[in-house]
Amino acid sequence: MGTLGRKIVDTNVGELVKLLNKAFSDEWLAYYQYWIGSKVVRGPNKEAVISELTLHATEELAHATLLTTRIIQLGGTPVTKPQEWYKLTNCGYDAPDDPYVIKVLEQNIKGEQCAIKSYNALLKKTKDKDPVTYNVILTILQQEVEHEEDLQALLEDIEVMMRNR
Ligand code: FE
Ligand code: FE
Ligand code: MG
Repeated sequence: MGTLGRKIVDTNVGELVKLLNKAFSDEWLAYYQYWIGSKVVRGPNKEAVISELTLHATEELAHATLLTTRIIQLGGTPVTKPQEWYKLTNCGYDAPDDPYVIKVLEQNIKGEQCAIKSYNALLKKTKDKDPVTYNVILTILQQEVEHEEDLQALLEDIEVMMRNR
């Protein structure tokens, strides 16, 4: 990476790369949780849920891309082995073994809430220290906030549908 680009980072770069790799691991697990969830999900309002889960999967993958780009710019190495994701993850992985739509939505809402918390912590850590990473994290956080709201709105719709049956 550019030497000056790294020099302006006013924080421990090794530590920052480690935190970015933890977030990177979360994104891959989130990607797969959404992707497989979109394939197995069953129940009322399934079509709308499938399109949202599919879209979120692609957005989580895009977050992984943003994070790798920044890790490499900082002179770090993105996680190269999927088995490392489980060791580094903040938010874990919730297998959609119960494919009922309400269950799947609840699992993903929990995941988004964890993502919001961990990106908010990263944002505070990089504020006034590393504006480039800050901007990347802010971009991702904005989308995680949107994800949580989308899923909660879908869950609400399903609950209303079921109440009126
Ligand atoms: Fe994400
Ligand atoms: Fe998300
Ligand atoms: Mg959405």
